[in-house]
This record gives sequence, structure tokens and C-alpha cells, in this order.
Amino acid sequence: MNRSPKNIQARVEHLAERCRETGMNVTPQRVAVYRALLESEDHPTPEMLYQTVSREMPSLSVATIYKTLDALVSLGLVRTVPVDGDRRRYDANDETHHHLVCSSCGKVRDYTSVEFDALVPPRRVAGFAPKSVSVTLTGTCDDCNGSGKGGD
Ligand SMILES: [Zn+2]
Ligand SMILES: [Zn+2]
Repeated sequence: MNRSPKNIQARVEHLAERCRETGMNVTPQRVAVYRALLESEDHPTPEMLYQTVSREMPSLSVATIYKTLDALVSLGLVRTVPVDGDRRRYDANDETHHHLVCSSCGKVRDYTSVEFDALVPPRRVAGFAPKSVSVTLTGTCDDCNGSGKGGD
């Protein structure tokens, strides 16, 4: 995803449009949380977003972050990433992509793959309506398996 200031500004304007279309208020909290999510590459938890956003908005609570994320998900601008464990992770990257999850440190990275993009969901699943396929690869990142640090 393109994270240039120009592209992030365009997406924030898109959020304002979506809010107006659906009759929701464009609150400074919604803008700040969405912007922080767009600028982040690590699929933050609500608590991680709180750390970032509360620096500029000290009055913000974690509960407000949760509510704001729910609103952004219902607007279709943000999705949750299925990761093992009880922590919810959020993603503002709306391009087709997959995820690499480190089972040691919990880091989540975007991964693009033409092979995975070509996977087609089954037409029918009992009691379920399939829409899209997103692959999660679990393993260990370079920081955790000791390589990729470039010597010491
Ligand atoms: Zn790791
Ligand atoms: Zn992602």
C-alpha cells in the first residue's frame, strides 16, 4: 500500500465522504485513529493505536479506540486480521493481500502473492457464504530466528 502523505490524506478525505454518506459524524477521533492505522505497517491492536493516538489526543480512552475501530470496520474502511490469540489486530490496507504472522513475537506483515491471489473460494460451504480468500502464513520473522540482523 502507498503510504505517502498525499495518499494518506486522500484516504482520510474518503473517510469523511463515507461518514457523510452514512450520516455519521466526522469526529477528530475517527480521523486520528484512521490516520494512525494508515500510517502503521504492523497491524496494530487497539492498545497499540492508543499509545500512538493518545500522544496528540491525551483525553482519548482505550474504549473510544475500540468504538472508533468498530465504526471504521462498519464503514468498510478497516478490517480485522485473523491472528491466533485473543488480541484483535486491525488493517487499513484495502488492497488484496495476505499476511505473515510471527508466532514468536506476534508481528504481522503484509504479503502480496500472485499465487495466493489466484485462489478461488469454494462456491458453496454448508451454512456459510464464501466471499474472498486471504492467506495467513505463520512462522518466525528474521528478528526472532536470529538471521537478517547483518552481523554484530
Ligand atoms: Zn518475530
Ligand atoms: Zn494487512
